[in-house]
Amino acid sequence: ATKLMAGKRGLIMGVANDKSIAWGIAKVCAEHGAEIAFSYQGETLRKRVQPLADQIGATELIECDVSQPESLDALFDRLKQVWGKIDFLVHAIGFSDKNELRGRYVDTSPENFRMTMDISVYSFTAACQRAAAMMPDGGSLLTLTYYGAERVMPHYNVMGVAKAALESSVRYIAEDLGKDGIRCNAISAGPIKTLAASGIGDFRYILKWNELNSPLRRNVTQEEVGKSALYLLSDLGSGVTGEVHHVDCGYHVVGMKAVDAPDI
Ligand code: NAD
Repeated sequence: ATKLMAGKRGLIMGVANDKSIAWGIAKVCAEHGAEIAFSYQGETLRKRVQPLADQIGATELIECDVSQPESLDALFDRLKQVWGKIDFLVHAIGFSDKNELRGRYVDTSPENFRMTMDISVYSFTAACQRAAAMMPDGGSLLTLTYYGAERVMPHYNVMGVAKAALESSVRYIAEDLGKDGIRCNAISAGPIKTLAASGIGDFRYILKWNELNSPLRRNVTQEEVGKSALYLLSDLGSGVTGEVHHVDCGYHVVGMKAVDAPDI
């Protein structure tokens, strides 16, 4: 089979365990010949990420808390030291106090608003600044978003506001870095049961609703997000930038509950 990522090196941020969307992307890219470095949030996660990295022969496993600028600097300094340059970056990171991922958005606290924006929005821009400096031959930057950026979804609240800002930042970054041959895109994934998703109120109900009402009448898998990421990260996506690409079994086109869908 054609190896679409042969000769490409990149950083994948946000693997927490084997359910992570970042891991789904890593597996598909590795199958296509990419050489991958991982960053993980803290030492307690290392024991989960290490065996996954081993599974695909990745040797660079670097701790990085994106809320700390020094931690981001150390991550990219290390990559510069070992690889000099990179071809792609995947940012699959988001965080908010789970007490605010239920109830009303309007009750959001200023502290959690700032923290959510910092970790879920600014960290992508901060990573892009540093990654772009290591992309002399161009490259591809990718982040993960959700439909709650565009429409009100139950319990998504401040995270929806953050994802809207993240999607906007994708467009600004695409314009800023396009001249350097660097593309920037987002995948808007349908709901998937992960660690981060378990913080969202009534998540099982949301999964079931999407399963019953999306055009494909099922939910997406990590691997399907991985396959779409492969397109955006490889030369297949060479003409695509500033895009928010939905990988959600078509849910975003639906305007009303399907007539054949049972009530849940
Ligand atoms: P996950 O819990 O596996 O991944 C979230 C990651 O964010 C974890 O690896 C965590 O360590 C990392 N993170 C949080 N705070 C951090 C910090 N300060 N520094 C460094 N890393 C930090 O869950 P996931 O669902 O795979 O989430 C990945 C991305 O996909 C997120 O942006 C999420 O919003 C997005 N997304 C998820 C879904 C879904 O239904 N699961 C749908 C659409 C978009």
